[in-house]
Amino acid sequence: MTEITQCPICNGISFAPFITCIDHAVSHETFHLIKCTDCELVITSPRPTTEQGKRYYESPAYISHSNKAQTFIDKIYVTARTFTLKWKMSIVDKHAAPSRQKALLDFGTGVGQFLKLAKSNGWDVAGVEPSEIARQKAPDIISKDIRASLDEITHGKQRFDVITAWHVMEHVHELSATIETLKKLLRENGTLIVAVPNHRSWDAHHYKQNWAAYDVPRHLWHFSVKSMTRFLENHSLRVTGIVPMRLDAFYISLLSEKYRTGSYTIRSAATSFTNALRSNRYAKKSMEYSSLIYIAHR
Ligand SMILES: [Zn+2]
Repeated sequence: MTEITQCPICNGISFAPFITCIDHAVSHETFHLIKCTDCELVITSPRPTTEQGKRYYESPAYISHSNKAQTFIDKIYVTARTFTLKWKMSIVDKHAAPSRQKALLDFGTGVGQFLKLAKSNGWDVAGVEPSEIARQKAPDIISKDIRASLDEITHGKQRFDVITAWHVMEHVHELSATIETLKKLLRENGTLIVAVPNHRSWDAHHYKQNWAAYDVPRHLWHFSVKSMTRFLENHSLRVTGIVPMRLDAFYISLLSEKYRTGSYTIRSAATSFTNALRSNRYAKKSMEYSSLIYIAHR
């Protein structure tokens, strides 16, 4: 296990205890979260090393790497994901500068659904996915475009018009080194699109230690608008927009309600639905949505 003693965003060394959570999805082990008193970054510390961390992903319950929907919640997740994929594509098309090349890198490709959609929409695609199991599940049409690490991309001279990281930065051990590499891979005025959960959302406050988006110890960092904006700007990336992910409140509330009550019932589904609506309503003024997409430019 590794303890974090310096904030990777602001270099601060002052932390306050934040919350203690259980790994509901895989190990049922307990993890502590601390908050940087300066930039608001919440950190899972101590956390497993990169090597130790692998076993926390090796579970059939870990849906992100799976295409097979088994439980009711999985089915809802997969249905929403199909809808969300198309919506994500529209976000990319809206924020990408016009380019003849149309080169897109998806960092943290998972089983590759977004990459497949981007390819079918005329993008020249590349993906990075460290999990071998996930890479093997990728559709044939894009399997040759997916690499195991960013190093394999940096060896070439390719530059990208758009780099996407959909719910990935919270999993990355080397935060600063990774964003620097991504920045170098982005062409001048290229678009970086980063989606992460928001620990200042209404659903995070409501569900506390049962908030599904803490997802310890897979989530190593827990961002807010303040910490993510500072993170990107520290690396000379201009934040040009923040886009709400309203649908995330529904899925995260559904899963959180399951963690809270210990089982899944019609009643808890109804409660989670109401809470998701509440979260989105609260965020209308505050912009503190369950998850946010940050649009940044080089
Ligand atoms: Zn900090």
